[in-house]
Amino acid sequence: MDSACSSDVTIAEGAIEKLNSLLSGYQRPLIVSDVMIFDKYGPVIESILDANVIWSISPVYKKGLVSRYSGIDIILGFGGGKSIDIAKLFANEAGLEWISIPTAASHDGIASDVASVMHDGYRYSEKCKPPKAILADLNIISTAPKVLTLSGIGDIISKTSSLAEWRLAHLHNDEPLDESVFEIVNNSLQAILRDYSLKTLVRSIIDTGNAMTCFGSSRPCSGTEHAISHAMDRRMQSLHGLQVAFATPLSLYFLEKAGFAKHSAHNIHTFLKKTAMPNTLENLDMTESIFLDDIHHALKIMEKRDRYSVLKHCDASDSDLSEAMREIGYL
Ligand SMILES: [Zn+2]
Repeated sequence: MDSACSSDVTIAEGAIEKLNSLLSGYQRPLIVSDVMIFDKYGPVIESILDANVIWSISPVYKKGLVSRYSGIDIILGFGGGKSIDIAKLFANEAGLEWISIPTAASHDGIASDVASVMHDGYRYSEKCKPPKAILADLNIISTAPKVLTLSGIGDIISKTSSLAEWRLAHLHNDEPLDESVFEIVNNSLQAILRDYSLKTLVRSIIDTGNAMTCFGSSRPCSGTEHAISHAMDRRMQSLHGLQVAFATPLSLYFLEKAGFAKHSAHNIHTFLKKTAMPNTLENLDMTESIFLDDIHHALKIMEKRDRYSVLKHCDASDSDLSEAMREIGYL
């Protein structure tokens, strides 16, 4: 992979021990974390580091907050997706480098240069810098709640539709496609379909995050299934990976019709059931009309981002969508 867009990655049990050498030359690191992680690992981190660290325990991102920490020279995101996103945004604002230390493998944002920000009930993406380094300590990540790991698997499974739709959009709508980036994301997907051990998941999530950074947009990893999840965000706060995985069979159903799917909607829906991810409207407290409304909204999101949707390609009507829901097994 192009070294300009890949970070220094360590995936190992005890990877956190490497932190002191990574921070040599820095005097005042700021660690963004949350209360639970700080309580659990704060003393461990401070015993590893020679430098005097400052902690920022903030549940939400606030613009301008980082300027309160005077003299900081690097930022660390230590926690789940939220802490890592805040670290990215702080680093952007302060013009500093940042390091990602994920405590869960819940989605591919732990390694990417894109932060997800909530504003007025909507989630949107903000482009930041890629991390200088990623320290994925498998001992720490293995203690994360199982549902977070499941969400990470879901985010990778969604690449069955995002990749196929990317190819479709390239051929039918001239969207740029990079074969080497396609390969990286596809390899991550294949690895997870073979074995979803924690180490494989962490590697896949980091590789797909890097792939987006290399390509310069989230397109390889985010298609209509992600837009549907963003539309669902208007009403619910379920985990990103579970929501995108839920919407994946719907996209695949139409990608199969368009002749672009490498995986069937049925097989991926069965995978969701087997791994106990939400796979029916009832699981997510949704009705058919609410899901239809989300799909309509998702199409507007795709259009706004100049991304070609397989639903548009197939000219899917409400009755086509309802039939798809029934055939897949959402109802
Ligand atoms: Zn995602």
